[in-house]
Amino acid sequence: MDTEPQWLLIRGGRIIDPASGIDRSADLLLAGEKVAAIGENLDVPPGARIIDASDTLVVPGLVDMHTHAYWGGTLLGVNADKLGPKSGVTTWVDCGSSGAATIEGFIHHVIRPSRLRIIPLVNLSYIGLTHAAGNLSMDVGELHDWRFADLRELMRVREQFGGEVAGLKLRASNNACGQNGPMLLPLAREAADLMGVPLMIHVGAAPPTIDEVMPFLRQGDILTHIYNPAQGGCVLDSVGRLRASVRDGMERGVRMDVGHGGSSFSFRIAERAMDQGLLPDAISTDLHAHNIDGPVLDLPSVMAKFLALGMDLRDVLERVTCRPASIVGRPELGRLEPGGVSDVALFRLMDGSGPLVDSEAHTRVGPFSLQNILTICRGQIVETFDDGRSEGRHYQA
Ligand SMILES: [Zn+2]
Repeated sequence: MDTEPQWLLIRGGRIIDPASGIDRSADLLLAGEKVAAIGENLDVPPGARIIDASDTLVVPGLVDMHTHAYWGGTLLGVNADKLGPKSGVTTWVDCGSSGAATIEGFIHHVIRPSRLRIIPLVNLSYIGLTHAAGNLSMDVGELHDWRFADLRELMRVREQFGGEVAGLKLRASNNACGQNGPMLLPLAREAADLMGVPLMIHVGAAPPTIDEVMPFLRQGDILTHIYNPAQGGCVLDSVGRLRASVRDGMERGVRMDVGHGGSSFSFRIAERAMDQGLLPDAISTDLHAHNIDGPVLDLPSVMAKFLALGMDLRDVLERVTCRPASIVGRPELGRLEPGGVSDVALFRLMDGSGPLVDSEAHTRVGPFSLQNILTICRGQIVETFDDGRSEGRHYQA
């Protein structure tokens, strides 16, 4: 029986690993699912495949903290396996696409067969996002009927899939909850505590307001859409000051997630909030069928926006690798070290960014941008494919 690992030598790249502080030119040797070595002029094992990485950034496979990857099962879902190989994202955290009624299909039909890593947060709503959420001709949110917030069903999910579910998600905004948001906040808190997982709450147009939301988030929980401009859901008050409720949340260790989305990222809000100390813990896309063709596009495009906002490359990379990995309780991901997992992404650093567009159609131009040229998950080079299906969905008004 052949027990030799599949060797892959990535030669001469600029390796940046924010978790260990590495930023230097070196070789990276992968032995199947594990990193074998990092160093100069490594020996080539017999049968190794060699990849020339000169003039290339070699970084941990990216972790996108906020995505929607339940394609086929929800209207908004996109196909991670098709898109990951074009963006360097090897870990897709799915934020509440599935609820207790639909997570079994997600796990069996999408997550387990994937060549990438998809980590689900389960929705407080029994039905999850289905094909109604985001359907502009129906526009029925998953918690317009509060009876879908069923804690017994979530206990069943914990028993059946506990090890695979990394958190509980509540979309606490008018489009998802109608007027029910304020009464659902304590239920979400209780459900997350009973499941023993972090609570992620999205904010947007009220109700509930962000001031009503924040007291329900504790250390290790996650606030997403932190730079959204929506009425009642914005981190800034009417005169542009960071709200005291948000500052208190930062101080007690609530994790701050970008979740760009179609309508949830404003350069003007981000600039004012960052000036007042609200930096993201995770830079993420909220990638779904309505924003993949703009303004989100992909994670490297959202990273380019933070480079344009003045964040340096290492700090941006940290927020798409080790930091989101540890937020979802998977600290072994998003890092490059001997003995660790062999998820790797190669990028070419391009001068300039072209116009970068936010949710309010405002633009900025950055110093450079990142073009993904190779993506490796579990030691395997993953390639995109054409299945004849468009990931974007467009509605006529
Ligand atoms: Zn989302």
